[in-house]
Amino acid sequence: MRILSVMCVIAAVAVACGRRSEAENEASWIVDRFDDIKVIRYEVPGFEQLPLQEKVLIYYLSEAAKCGRDILFDQNFKYNLAIRRTLETIYEHYEGDRTVPEWAALEKYLKKVWFANGIHHHYSNDKFVPEFSEAYFRTVASTIPDERFGELNGLFEEVCTAIFDPTLYKTRLNQAAGDDLIATSSNNYYAGGVTQSEAERFYADMAAADAGNPEPVSYGLNSQLAKVDGRLQERVWKIGGMYSPAIEKIVYWLKKAATVAEEPQKTNIEALIAYYETGDLKEFDRYNIGWVKDTVSNVDFVNGFIEDYGDPMGRKASWEANVNFMDREACHRTEVISENAQWFEDHSPVAPEYRKEKVKGVSAKVITVAMLGGDCYPATPIGINLPNADWIRKEYGSKSVTIDNITYAYDKAAHGNGFDEEFVLRAEDRERMERYGKLADDLHTDLHECLGHGSGQLAPGVKGGELKSYGSTLEEARADLFGLYYLGDPKLVELGLVPSFDVAKAGYANYIMNGLMTQLARIEPGKQVEESHMRNRKLIAEWCYEHGQADKVIEWVVQEGKRYVVVNDFEKLRALFGELLHEVQRIKSEGDYEAGKELVERYAVKVDPAVHAEVLERYSALGIEPYGGFVNPEYELVVQDGRIVDVKIAYPANYVEQMLGYAKEYSFLPNRN
Ligand code: ZN
Repeated sequence: MRILSVMCVIAAVAVACGRRSEAENEASWIVDRFDDIKVIRYEVPGFEQLPLQEKVLIYYLSEAAKCGRDILFDQNFKYNLAIRRTLETIYEHYEGDRTVPEWAALEKYLKKVWFANGIHHHYSNDKFVPEFSEAYFRTVASTIPDERFGELNGLFEEVCTAIFDPTLYKTRLNQAAGDDLIATSSNNYYAGGVTQSEAERFYADMAAADAGNPEPVSYGLNSQLAKVDGRLQERVWKIGGMYSPAIEKIVYWLKKAATVAEEPQKTNIEALIAYYETGDLKEFDRYNIGWVKDTVSNVDFVNGFIEDYGDPMGRKASWEANVNFMDREACHRTEVISENAQWFEDHSPVAPEYRKEKVKGVSAKVITVAMLGGDCYPATPIGINLPNADWIRKEYGSKSVTIDNITYAYDKAAHGNGFDEEFVLRAEDRERMERYGKLADDLHTDLHECLGHGSGQLAPGVKGGELKSYGSTLEEARADLFGLYYLGDPKLVELGLVPSFDVAKAGYANYIMNGLMTQLARIEPGKQVEESHMRNRKLIAEWCYEHGQADKVIEWVVQEGKRYVVVNDFEKLRALFGELLHEVQRIKSEGDYEAGKELVERYAVKVDPAVHAEVLERYSALGIEPYGGFVNPEYELVVQDGRIVDVKIAYPANYVEQMLGYAKEYSFLPNRN
């Protein structure tokens, strides 16, 4: 599960950091901006102080994290690699006029392709509309000698069609009920004309053959399902299988990492290698169990086919990587929360029969990221909760992390951009957000992750899954409400986590404003709210607005023609959070599909077009890009007399150079796979 992968940009916009206080402006953190994107650099505080062995381990794991980049491009769309390489060849070798608007449009398009790991928007999944003509593209390409393009020559017509034909490959991921979701999604997880019903049958048969196994593997997770000569077969992503050239490189660096890792991590890395070598999903489970049980290694990582958000069938996983180490100071916060998990559960406002008698398996830490790769780069989640296999989560628990240096960089990049002056009406709210916003955000994330998702229990006979397509929105709402409710609890003051209720006030004001209004900046005109984290925030904010109306708990205020959201009574708002948590937990515990559907459809989906238009207008006037992503640091081994004596870190501030560099150094797959 990915955590709050999309909220951070806007939520973090209104806050500043209390922990580190150097006065820097946004400009020094933002390295590039184009279209709706800003690219930010992030720092890796504490890296220099790590012992040499851990630095070297990070170096090897970081190399492994960069080697799978092409896999994701190819997973997203079968012509993505050919398109990217064609554009890169033109970008590097074109000797004509680079001052004309068409060239600028072509450069912007390439930057977007790099950012989205393909020609579909990383968030909306819609195909990019080029702002240069096909004729211009063909002319520019024709000036470059054929030998520069090499094997790309044979794919040039396909590349042109994919970029310029508006009727083809319109979306990477179609989730509209009633359509053939495979035929209408242009990702590369299914090939050769596999239909949705064929894929469903294929995996239903596979599951049926394994029925009764209490430890089922994640069928289909690491393969493309292809129809060859009329027969369905899985092309497994492993050494010797699909994507082998990239996986061989990943394994090469993992083997190096295993030579410097200590137990139990060494054994875990070897399990991961065995999985990449065999493609056997049982090996993947073995690796995951070892990984989740390892709570002692300071350096940790994710590397593999992990999240299935990109597959409309929710089965195939995109390749991603992340290398990190513990942020000891911030970990104290989550340790205190975890130690008191039972107290929070016992005092939760849900019906007693739906509280957990014994809370277990909550391991949470705050980490510093050292490298992002695959589906975590350049856009990254700010937290991760893994593994995803239900039976492993139940038997062994899960590991939950929040990424502090990334949220810190988001904050820095947002500081001084005019957002709070534009959208926060009262000076007292602005001051509280400035002072406590980051702490409130961090604590809310910790409570959401460490406790919220793991809290509560189902009624006897309820299996989970009853809420179907409303399940993920309601699950996020449940975890968010748990966090919101406890953010304002006197217990947090008692535990020394916050100085006063003012932290909750900062968090509440920001949350409600975001849920009712500012998050709409991410929605295109005419569209409704689709993404489950966004739906959850809208659900909570709208429900509290309506149920607190008699007391004016939340109020819409219009001043000088502009709308603002104001919270008048923070204590009552907290009580409303508790009430809604009670109901959402009841819905989950009883599997009450109708009530869940009613909540989501009534409060979470429909956008008020007038409010939406106003937000978009005010947002664009500020010139703030709604999406953010990152450039990675660079690491270099320092070798003396044949021995590694140190690892140096540098912070490049050039997005284009990093992308072109990765294309040269870490591109191992053929154009078509
Ligand atoms: Zn969540």
